[in-house]
Amino acid sequence: MVTALADHLWWYDLTGVNATLVDDGGMLTLVDTGLPWHGNELIAGLSDAGYELRDLDRILLTHFDFDHVGGLTAFDGVDATIYVGKRDAPLVTGEQSPPLGNHKGAFQRLISPFLDAPDNEVVPLADGDTVGSFTVYHTPGHTPGHVCYVSETLSLGLLGDLVREDGGRFEPSPWLVSYDTDAVARSISDFAERAPDFEVAVPGHGVPFEKRGSERLDRLAATM
Ligand SMILES: [Zn+2]
Repeated sequence: MVTALADHLWWYDLTGVNATLVDDGGMLTLVDTGLPWHGNELIAGLSDAGYELRDLDRILLTHFDFDHVGGLTAFDGVDATIYVGKRDAPLVTGEQSPPLGNHKGAFQRLISPFLDAPDNEVVPLADGDTVGSFTVYHTPGHTPGHVCYVSETLSLGLLGDLVREDGGRFEPSPWLVSYDTDAVARSISDFAERAPDFEVAVPGHGVPFEKRGSERLDRLAATM
């Protein structure tokens, strides 16, 4: 099931992790893909929103993690390009393994046998790149290649695991699941400063905000 947040925007609540479907000026865009067993739910959500599987044009990933790239292979055979921050891209394609010298990397390495590389083309993104109406912001910390996406046209910020919603406000990505929490804090401040204002904010975990998204992030950044 998907929840419509606007006439061009749908939220997947995949029990604990979010994915988002956006009609970005006619380009149907899925943002993050949940856990490996979420594939069918993602595909069912497309028809809930009035689309078919073949309508999907692109998949934006906020980062490489079990609970955000897990459903990717459900889209093998669909003509959809995958986009991901360039530091995380070789992990998505399987060209690199997560580093053992970091607690988060070691956990990722442990579960990597359960993730298959997708068949679709994977395009690495750098800070400032654009995909459709979205601008890419490199926000390292949760993972080295973590990115957020902001569309000024849609007044939409896709925040991935830079922050999570808890009790009606944003909190930084916690230590246990982050490569580097100092980098998370720097990224929150840097992103809050550089990104334009947006109303709708979808974090990777928790409930999306439909109003004053960037304002809520600014509030967190002020405490960093
Ligand atoms: Zn996550």
